[in-house]
Parts: sequence; C-alpha cells; structure tokens
Amino acid sequence: MTRFAWGAATDTGRVRQANEDTLLAVDGLFAVADGMGGHKAGEVASHLAVETLQEEFTAAGTDVLVHAVQQANRALVERSSDDTELTGMGTTLCAMALVDAEGRDAIAVVNVGDSRLYLLSEGELTQITEDHSLVATLERQGRLSPAEAAVHPQRNILTRALGIDAGVVVDSWEIVPVVGDRYLLCSDGLFNEVDDNRLAATMRRLADPAEAARELVRLANEAGGRDNITCVVVDVVDDAGRDPKATTGSSRVTAATTGGDAGLFSDAPGDVVPEVVDEGAGKGEQRQAAGRRERRRERSVGQHGAPRRRLLTWRVGLFALAFVAIVGVTIGVIVWMGRNTYYVGVDGDQVAIFRGKPGGVLWIEPELAETTGIAVAQVPAASVDAVRAGVEEATLDDARRFVANLEQQIGPTTSTTTSTATTSTTTVAPAVAPAPSAPG
Ligand code: MN
Repeated sequence: MTRFAWGAATDTGRVRQANEDTLLAVDGLFAVADGMGGHKAGEVASHLAVETLQEEFTAAGTDVLVHAVQQANRALVERSSDDTELTGMGTTLCAMALVDAEGRDAIAVVNVGDSRLYLLSEGELTQITEDHSLVATLERQGRLSPAEAAVHPQRNILTRALGIDAGVVVDSWEIVPVVGDRYLLCSDGLFNEVDDNRLAATMRRLADPAEAARELVRLANEAGGRDNITCVVVDVVDDAGRDPKATTGSSRVTAATTGGDAGLFSDAPGDVVPEVVDEGAGKGEQRQAAGRRERRRERSVGQHGAPRRRLLTWRVGLFALAFVAIVGVTIGVIVWMGRNTYYVGVDGDQVAIFRGKPGGVLWIEPELAETTGIAVAQVPAASVDAVRAGVEEATLDDARRFVANLEQQIGPTTSTTTSTATTSTTTVAPAVAPAPSAPG
C-alpha cells in the first residue's frame, strides 16, 4: 500500500495584488494551477480547474486523471464564453495522483502549461514535467541555453493552457512509487526566483514536508516574490515493498503522452507574441543552416581517412556487396523522400508549398513548388508554429488541401483578428492581444 505525507504553502508574493494560484492537497490527489486573465479571471480559472479535476477524478486510473484535466478545460471554455468578464481566462494545471496501473500502485502525473513537478530521489532533483512555454520550446530547439531561458523576459508566454481551445493535449506520465522519494509541485513563481540547486538543498534539508513548502515560499519572496508562489511537497512514506533497485532512475518514469502545442498565450503585459516568434524563427533558420553546414563538413572530414587495406576473401566480398546494396537502397529511399514529398512552409512572409523535406535531406534542398498568396501574419495562431516548422504532406494535392483549409479558417475571421490586435487590452487572445494583468 502506497502512502503519502504532504505539506503545502501558497503566497501572493511581494508584487502582485491577488493570488491567482490554486492548490489542492488531499490524500492521493495533489495539484497546482496558475491562473491568468487579469482582474478576477485568473483566480476563477485556477479554482475552477482544480475543482473540476477533483470532481472528475472518480477512479484511480491515469486515463481518468487525463480525462479529468480535459473536463476541467471544457468547464473553463464554457464559463469564459458565458461570462464576458472572464473572456480569455486560462490556467496551467499540474497534478499527481495515486492510481492503479495493471494491479500495481503508480503515481500518475498530468501537465498542461508551465507549472512543474520535480522528483527528489536519493538526493537528486529531476524535473519530471516539460514546460509548455515559448522559452522552453526555444530551449528544446537549441535556440536558447538553459541560463538564457531562466532569465528570458518572455518566459511567461505559454504555448499550452486550459481554457483557450475546446481540445487540449495533456502530457502524462506514470512513476513507480518508492519510499523516501519526495515530490514538489509548484508554480513558476517559485522556480523563476529560486534555482534548482537551492530547491534541492532545501528539500533535502527539511524533513517535514509542510516546513519544506513554507521555506520554499519564503525563499521565493526573499528573492523578489515577483509572482504568486505555490508549493506542494509530497513524500512517499510507504510503498508496496517493491525492490527499488529494479526500479530506480529514469526507467521508473514512463511518459504516456506528450504532444503538440496549440498557440501562444501570455499572462504578462506587453507581450506581442508574433514579433518574438519572427525574431526567433529568423535566428533559428540561420542557426539551422549553420548546423547543416557543420554536419556536411563533419561528413567530408569523416571520409578523409584512407580505409585500411584488407585481404579480400569471397566472404568479405559478398558482405561488401550486400552492404553496398543496403546503403544504395537506403540512399535511394532518402533521395526519393527528399524529392517526392511536399510541405507547407514559409517563403519570405508568405505561406508556400515546397517540394522536399523541411530543412532538406542530405544534399537535397527543398524547392518552392507553389506560392499561395496567404501572408504568414494571417495564419491562425494555432497553426502558425506548425507552418513555420513546415507541415509535411505526402502529395501536392494534400498540401493544396491543407492550404485550402487554412484559407477557409482565415476567410471569415480576418476582421475579428484585426480588431482584437488593435483594440483589445483586456483579453488574453491567442498570439496577438497585448495581455493584461500585473507585471511579471
Ligand atoms: Mn505564475
């Protein structure tokens, strides 16, 4: 039987007027939600998300927990469409729960947004969840170093949140519970102020989970307290007597789902998202190109060394022939793919159809196949990242269908998109609206 001990703390911080974070700590279910939307909307969003999660977590299963998060998303979308004062509200949600995984206890973890779950195991701190934020995406793509990301002015722009779209992709994991493990659920108000080393040191030092949670909040306030701070510390005090040796390290953690992001949202004022993306994308393309050149150089250096002479026997000869044949077929397939697939991407500031693979394959660079007359700026926020990265399609017709679909989405909404961008100062609309709420 797995049992937990836990403690939690939350605080408005030293700058913000209200605490828009919500936490839940009941036996077997722990959650942190960080609301956004200004005025009361952020508080409503995080409360509603946590409330719905608890109501909908009716059975101890990972799929039930994931479904509960999706229900929370639905509840938020409905509420914000019913009440104009709540338009644009959203929230992160990060939760862990004790579940049954094929007859054995497991810790299920779900995440949407940039609240985090850390695991302290044998003194080592690991971040389990992945942030759904613009800087985390740029970091994963190698465009920002972890140090740059930690202080980036746009680090509160989210790429995924609850309450924005009717559907949401929920990341989930299952972890084997082991006695002595300590978990930390927290909002960004903690880890933006306190670095991982101090988090780990504090969690190692204070045995009582409630005391550890309070101390973490105190450290964040001491460092500036520029955002709401929420911590839930959960200790595994009993497990089902499993052999921890068989289940230590990263093999204990199983990622069930991780998926694509659906747009850009911010809880800080003055974030004009498209500009940031343009800048980042431009730099990234240059860096990508540099990377390709680098790899090419490596390949040619690799071919420099003269092969060692060998005695040719018929066995070696046959093997060499087979090897050459396999390499030949592989190259043939890659070349065929490089020339005979299509993708919808970006040519200058226009959406265009290319023949080939985004970024090219070996020496085959993609070719412009057709222009479309759609400006990148018109592309709906939900699709713009995908289009910039290149949406691969098997045939030219498929690519044209994708473009037609884009055109359809743009057609009727062009005027509203423009008005949102120019007049709204109180809604957190995807991608374009200057976002509200207190300074970040
Ligand atoms: Mn926050």
